[in-house]
Amino acid sequence: MQSAFFNPGPTTTEGQIASLHLSRDQQLPVQLTTVASRAEDQGYAEGVVTNTRFGSFPHSTLIDIPWGCQVLASKVDTGTRGRDNFTHSRKRKANAISTDSPTDSTESASLKQATAANSGFIHVLPPTPESWTTSLPHRTQVVYTPDYSYVLQQIRAQPGSTLIEAGSGSGSFTHAAARAVFQGAPTSLNNASKTEEMHTAGKVFTFEFHAERHEKVKTEMEEHGLDSIVTATHRDVYKDGFWLTGERGAYQSPRANCIFLDLPAPWEALPHLTRQDTPDKPSALDPDSTAYVCTFSPCIEQVQRTVSTMRRLSWLEIEMVEIQHKRIEVKREYTGLKYEGMRGVNPVAATVDEALERLRQVEENAREHQQDTRNKSRSKNGVQQNNSSESAVQKHWDEGKLIHRAEPELKTHTSYLVFAVLPREWTEEDEATARARTGQID
Ligand code: SAM
Repeated sequence: MQSAFFNPGPTTTEGQIASLHLSRDQQLPVQLTTVASRAEDQGYAEGVVTNTRFGSFPHSTLIDIPWGCQVLASKVDTGTRGRDNFTHSRKRKANAISTDSPTDSTESASLKQATAANSGFIHVLPPTPESWTTSLPHRTQVVYTPDYSYVLQQIRAQPGSTLIEAGSGSGSFTHAAARAVFQGAPTSLNNASKTEEMHTAGKVFTFEFHAERHEKVKTEMEEHGLDSIVTATHRDVYKDGFWLTGERGAYQSPRANCIFLDLPAPWEALPHLTRQDTPDKPSALDPDSTAYVCTFSPCIEQVQRTVSTMRRLSWLEIEMVEIQHKRIEVKREYTGLKYEGMRGVNPVAATVDEALERLRQVEENAREHQQDTRNKSRSKNGVQQNNSSESAVQKHWDEGKLIHRAEPELKTHTSYLVFAVLPREWTEEDEATARARTGQID
């Protein structure tokens, strides 16, 4: 399976999707190509160019380099075709800084030259569902990483699972689901053949009734190399459920064991997720395993209707969860010495000599303050404890105080998650088989 998401290979190649890492919260997905097919790419002498706030990056400098490289911005000229100093291959070599830093002195020199000439840099990373979620083109509200990681774990999505999703929306959850069910760990960067061997099953069936959104998700799955795992179907699931169309139009069961419903009215889809077979339609659930469902609804009224329908349809262990995602910033704050040293010192200096004098003054003040604190600590704790309390004070001055605070988050409430379980049917025959297997006798 050729997906940059699971199996990117050791280096970037033409046609792959890459995640350009600009900063911790900013990633840019790009399809790497040197073929300028869009009008806006035609004006550049360098071919296709991605412009960012850290500078311009011709794709010729991003292709055929090891994943994870830092790439320096290029000077891009829209009207100087052929006048560029670097040929593209030389430029690629000069701009890509591998994680193994170059030892060759000529290369280091050209890197320095390029650094001086350019304004910024980016890192070229293989795409992940997480980076895709933060940067995908939004067509709807999407499910974010804190929610989908919890959902996938709770509905027991694992390599080999069969997962039903409705609606597909912008495909954010779809990417994470594809990775969860993919039979084979997401790769280390050059573990291609191993992952290929391990990929035997694991499926996502995603349903969407909005024609354009369905088409877009289907195309994305193909472009991202995920179409062997994800089957996208255009369907109103309230009306027509989750069956697949087999030979001569016969209904086939997807045999799902995990279900995720991100729909305005999940209670209208739930009646299609029972264990009953009808003469022409088999149950959409896997008869040999427990089914786990999660619904995702922003309002408590939707939750109430969903829970009530689940109870009527014999779903068990129904519970509602709300994820409150907080990012905690942990850092050391240098309050002690530096702060004390600055006391009484005028921070403004007119000359370099004056500035140096102020610095000397700050250091002197700090030393005095430190000595003072040591003396106080001695008289308080007694001579016996001198060493340990002194080193604690020293450590505090040297390393600063460890503090933490929650980073402000814009999104607090996304949705309520309702989870439930539908056990497999257990017949007399199943019981007899189980007893025989475990050697139990009546
Ligand atoms: N989970 C998606 C993601 O992470 O990108 C977002 C889903 S979006 C909030 C809800 C989607 O459900 C919309 O695209 C909508 O068109 C689709 N939808 C609504 N009713 C539907 C139905 N009866 N059958 C199929 N899809 C439906």
